[in-house]
Amino acid sequence: MDTETPTFDALLAGSAPSGGYNYAFLDEVTKRAIRRAILKAVTVPGYQVPFGSRELPIARGWGTGGLQVTLAIVGPGDRLKVIDQGADAGVNASNIRRLVERTTGLPTTTETAAATVIQTRHRVPEEPLRPDQILVYQVPLPEPLRIVEPSEAKTRRMHAEGDYSKVWVHLYEDVVRQGEISIATGYPVMVNGRHVMSTTPVPRWDVPKMDRAPFLQLFGAGREKRIYAVPPHTSVVPLDFEDYPFRVEAFGDTACARCGATDAYFDQSVDDATSRRVYTCSDTAWCDRELDAQEVAW
Ligand SMILES: [Zn+2]
Repeated sequence: MDTETPTFDALLAGSAPSGGYNYAFLDEVTKRAIRRAILKAVTVPGYQVPFGSRELPIARGWGTGGLQVTLAIVGPGDRLKVIDQGADAGVNASNIRRLVERTTGLPTTTETAAATVIQTRHRVPEEPLRPDQILVYQVPLPEPLRIVEPSEAKTRRMHAEGDYSKVWVHLYEDVVRQGEISIATGYPVMVNGRHVMSTTPVPRWDVPKMDRAPFLQLFGAGREKRIYAVPPHTSVVPLDFEDYPFRVEAFGDTACARCGATDAYFDQSVDDATSRRVYTCSDTAWCDRELDAQEVAW
């Protein structure tokens, strides 16, 4: 039997030996272990469950946690959407989509409403998700207490005891120094009134969408070997002060240069010709949908 290991490029090109890879790439034992970790995470919302993270054939820094969760839960009947910074067309998103297509035969989509599983880096789609959809987050830094406590043993004890005083002190110091809570991404939230969780890596704009959402949210961190979850209809409350309340990013009267939307999270770029700042929807599928709707209206 040929035991030569095919390369990832060969797999993507469709020239890998048939049977060389299992359904959804991971072996069944691994997928079962990940599903067990997911079930445990769902029963204790916001609690970080350790799991035996595997190596995956993707570039370093792309993140494997979200991908491992996705590979463990997809099955016949699913349709996958993958976004990176809100866009479906990024290199990371395209390659993850191809990996799942080639190893499962499942269809993929860029339409938010057409997907059953959405894997994301950096954004929650602008279009409200339904109860039959699952949002999988690729998480770089799962521990919300790391910013105040470098020791893993100590952060685990702080979670166990519900001792979040250091986080509150950190937020207080932020207000004293900056005049407001300046955390941009990974804003700390209280989940189900019990566990403080990092909303990494989404912007503050997306945090309110997590609260009592009708859909299941799964978070995977590959390097740190952690899975956590927010089940449907679970409270996700940003940590803040009564006189310094949590706020999403303010874009003023900014409108998308492409579709004209004013109620979306925007990416900023500079127009080469005019050197002026240009804002466009970060969620490209949302932007496309808005444009299509306008064409129909005309
Ligand atoms: Zn737009």
